Amino acid sequence: MLGSMMEVPLNVISIIRHAASNHPQAEIVSREPSNQLHCYTYASAYRRICQLGRALARLNLQQGDRIATLAWNNYRHFELYYATAGMGLVCHTINPRLHAADVSWIANHSQDRVLCFDRAFLPLVMELLSELQSVEHFIVLDDSATDWPPARVDLQAYERLLAAESDGTLDWPTLDENSPCGLCYTSGTTGKPKGVTYSHRSTVLHAYASALPDSFRLSARETVMPIVPMFHVNAWGLPYSLPLVGARIVFPGEYLDGQSLYTLCEQQQVTLAAGVPTVWLGILEHVKKSGHGFSSLERALIGGSAASESMLHTLEELHGVEVLHAWGMTEISPTGAVNQPTPASRQQPVETLAFKKKQGRAIPGILFRLEDEAGEEQPWDGKSAGHLLVRGPWVVDTYAGGIAGARPDGWFDTGDIATIDPHGFMQIVDRSKDLIKSGGEWISSVTLEDAATAHPDVLEAGVIGIPHPKWVERPLLVCVTRDGSNLDAQALKAFLSERLAKWWVPDAIELVERLPHGATGKLLKTELRKQFAHYILPTAAANELEQP
Ligand code: ADP
Repeated sequence: MLGSMMEVPLNVISIIRHAASNHPQAEIVSREPSNQLHCYTYASAYRRICQLGRALARLNLQQGDRIATLAWNNYRHFELYYATAGMGLVCHTINPRLHAADVSWIANHSQDRVLCFDRAFLPLVMELLSELQSVEHFIVLDDSATDWPPARVDLQAYERLLAAESDGTLDWPTLDENSPCGLCYTSGTTGKPKGVTYSHRSTVLHAYASALPDSFRLSARETVMPIVPMFHVNAWGLPYSLPLVGARIVFPGEYLDGQSLYTLCEQQQVTLAAGVPTVWLGILEHVKKSGHGFSSLERALIGGSAASESMLHTLEELHGVEVLHAWGMTEISPTGAVNQPTPASRQQPVETLAFKKKQGRAIPGILFRLEDEAGEEQPWDGKSAGHLLVRGPWVVDTYAGGIAGARPDGWFDTGDIATIDPHGFMQIVDRSKDLIKSGGEWISSVTLEDAATAHPDVLEAGVIGIPHPKWVERPLLVCVTRDGSNLDAQALKAFLSERLAKWWVPDAIELVERLPHGATGKLLKTELRKQFAHYILPTAAANELEQP
């Protein structure tokens, strides 16, 4: 026997259709390359999405074909998300900050048939032209297509394609809710990029779950600035969850420095902004130097890497901005956990900031499991660390090209080591490959980085394990100090010694001008390891082989 409810497949286009009918006047503001602001409503966005759907229909594509984008967070990119999905195509967002060879590798791997790009990426696309094997149509996200070499006749201007189509709504095709709508490659901090193909069903369910009060708490009363790029895990699903609730959206375009983001946030009276810690660092540095504060920002959504205690302190205690610390990954669409308190967790005898460092509780739909090396389940006692496994309707099963994702028993191994407390709050200890194995025990690089950035003169810190003749590995701390600071390694070591167990104190500290970052703004440990590949720790060279 089956339930007797309507069978309406979950479909991405229904989200924007809902926004256009129920929040027709809610705005989408975008910063254009010219630095001017473009502003229109959900109703106008939906009209243009219908036009774009018609234009795409003329390109002779098959359902499931991939439409690649190389674009910043802006209204045209937003329209592409919906029109492609609505037509049964797959919006394949490519990270333009990747090396050109990686961009063409990814586009060829996914057999993209159309490439849509912001004019700013024209030089990159020109460089890729001879490498791209499957792209038949090039669309520049602009009014005209004049800069193209004459030999390539198939460059079209986005606005001209739209202008050629009639106005009025479109009868979108009926699609299986399990059919694909989006594709994202992992950022490759852990190896060759792997493609994760999202379905209409996974995308819609993820949007519902992430909008909930104990997730991102989204509503029509918010003005939200997704700083996290739309080419990185769909800007954490915000282009779907914001129209779902009718929130006002502010897209920052290509202006991602601290000053530009802060100015836009103030001008547009943003109430919630979302970005990785590196981006917040830029904003907070600007705010510190300029002596300004936030007049509208109520909440900061931080994820992608751990939010440090000093960042939590600055936002929450200095500026009164509530931090929502969230955890996820490309394979989880991406949201898996958000740190929102419960009545019980509020009564825990822990300092608020220490508690905020936890990545939070699984959002409804996501299940957690902790396992030790032998696959034995670990207790949720807040102390036992284990491999974090997840499952749920928006977790990858198989990567593009049939590469296995989830294990045969249905769990996906995140590659993270975590603890979970009795209230369900998960805390990332480290990525399993970043843990420093010191004499049979391990040291969390995340904890050391956090301790280092607690020093007021330390701007950013990265910790890696360096081979050691006795302890296998010992930590090296690499730091960037703030402008004008004269902090030296010895003073920093003394500072850390007061805060860490003796054997966790790094064996060496190097002060550098800058740390390497990956294409999504995260600290790139693979690159840091390369830079210090031949590093010899003083404790090893001097044969100080006693327990540090
Ligand atoms: P990649 O593996 O290519 O970097 P992602 O960008 O999807 O891909 O990164 C996912 C990883 O980022 C997680 O497995 C986790 O290690 C890390 N991460 C995400 N959010 C947080 C967070 N709030 N705190 C600590 N680590 C995080």
